[in-house]
Amino acid sequence: MTRMLAIANQKGGVAKTTTVASLGAALADLDVSVLVVDLDPQGCLTFSLGHDPDQLESSVHDVLLGEEEIANVLLDTDDNVTLLPATIDLAGAEALLLMRPGREYALKRALAEVAQDYDVILIDCPPSLGVLTLNGLTAADEVVVPLQCETLAHRGVGQLLRTVNEVQQITNPGLTTLGAVATLYDARTTHSRDVLGDVSDRYDLPVLDPPIPRTVRFAEASASGTSVMRGRKNKGANAYRGLAENLWKHWEAGTPVQTFDTA
Ligand code: ADP
Ligand code: MG
Repeated sequence: MTRMLAIANQKGGVAKTTTVASLGAALADLDVSVLVVDLDPQGCLTFSLGHDPDQLESSVHDVLLGEEEIANVLLDTDDNVTLLPATIDLAGAEALLLMRPGREYALKRALAEVAQDYDVILIDCPPSLGVLTLNGLTAADEVVVPLQCETLAHRGVGQLLRTVNEVQQITNPGLTTLGAVATLYDARTTHSRDVLGDVSDRYDLPVLDPPIPRTVRFAEASASGTSVMRGRKNKGANAYRGLAENLWKHWEAGTPVQTFDTA
């Protein structure tokens, strides 16, 4: 059985892409076969996994519009995850998809053709609640929300959860909200924990264990074309390893995810 997880938050810079790349690589290290999907026209996931979006002949854009077979577009990466890449063309897909019936289902239909080859599919949603994010949420079984642990982190979370709710009612009744992934977490002060506690209470959103600490290694990694899992040992990579183990246990054993106590 393939687990499909969407990583969504319409706010930019909350570490969606970093989470998909690092979690994907950490799962691959557990011998899990992983496909990661770049749904952002900026192509940051594609770039950070070592492929230049400007040099690609075809991408998820062509797949969503039914102009290319998904199997012909997939790329290998040095992180041992398979990548469905994005290019800037995807910026136009939104408008083209809007004119089509069943537009929210385009990704789901494409992924169904290759899903049996993977244990886990991670979907990196763009920073908007448009038709691309709706495609991600419609394809997924579960969704997690990366939250940057700073004041105003809650802004937009209500709107995102309302969108998830609408997707559950209209295109994907089986979609489950797993919880928040705490990113850029600072364990040295109580501020990060206070922010998380506030958001978690306000929206009844559990925080997955462990939080991901802030470390400069992430910036170095995205420039190197491999995830932070491939660099020198560091606390960011360790945290994503812990998150991968937490999620894999949940999927394998069917037990609830372990949550982080914000009290
Ligand atoms: P999003 O996809 O939500 O826009 P990104 O994953 O691109 O966010 O991350 C935004 C920026 O934050 C990037 O420069 C990334 O390297 C940096 N970043 C992500 N996670 C961390 C972290 N735990 N510590 C430090 N910097 C991080
Ligand atoms: Mg991103």
